[in-house]
Amino acid sequence: MKYLGAHVSAAGGVDQAVSRAVEIGANAFALFTKNQRQWRAKPLEDATIEAFRASCERHGFGSGQILPHDSYLINLGHPEAEGLAKSRAAFLDEMQRCEQLGLSLLNFHPGSHLRKIDEGDCLARIAESIDLALAETRGVTAVIENTAGQGSNLGWRFEQLAEIIARVDDKARVGVCIDTCHAFAAGYDLRTAEATTAMLDELDRVVGIEYLRGMHLNDAKSELGSRVDRHHSLGRGNIGLECFTTLMRDPRTDGIPMVLETIEPTIWPDEIAWLRAQEEAA
Ligand SMILES: [Zn+2]
Ligand SMILES: [Zn+2]
Repeated sequence: MKYLGAHVSAAGGVDQAVSRAVEIGANAFALFTKNQRQWRAKPLEDATIEAFRASCERHGFGSGQILPHDSYLINLGHPEAEGLAKSRAAFLDEMQRCEQLGLSLLNFHPGSHLRKIDEGDCLARIAESIDLALAETRGVTAVIENTAGQGSNLGWRFEQLAEIIARVDDKARVGVCIDTCHAFAAGYDLRTAEATTAMLDELDRVVGIEYLRGMHLNDAKSELGSRVDRHHSLGRGNIGLECFTTLMRDPRTDGIPMVLETIEPTIWPDEIAWLRAQEEAA
């Protein structure tokens, strides 16, 4: 069973995201539980939490079908004490919001060394940041997203994701989300069925497929290995449709939220319907 959806807007309250997912024919979705471009947010109100939980239940969204994304400001590998402390506090708040909403996954970008510390030191800081948040929360898995490797962002090589996981204490509450655009920009070819299967094989070999807890399905405006993060609609970029057909037919992506972050929300219903047709044709 594939769980397919998109990163929908939570404007007007997180509970509003659920009906937006329903409207596009999704059985999975992603959302921000607070404004992703601000450090602070007011706590979730009890009524909003209740409305979110009730709407998820009514529409059949289990917590494993929902992949919240944290704020873009957070850098869990920040080289400086102040930036690191601020990021860790904000990340804990994000985890706690997930706990309140009954969500079991939180998707985030690992972090950046900002060219001030070396890669190993940064990866160790990221792992320690995850440990600190996991120690203060229950039931939420920290899902590390692979990046395009733009600037000094880490997590673009699967080896870096594996290194973070190796350092995390509670391996049962850490996982990865693979964004196809980011993987392609980082140098993992996805233009054919064979290449796509090989990418999943490599993920299994380097990280372990049991850690795969979500995917972002995006075509890429950017080139293979360009380390530039530019999403595109499915079939309109440099990856092409074969990758997504292959992913729909690979059992290794069963049972995890697979979420579009493509650039034209008006065609999300068509993209989701097309993905489903690929699965059914298998
Ligand atoms: Zn992301
Ligand atoms: Zn993504």
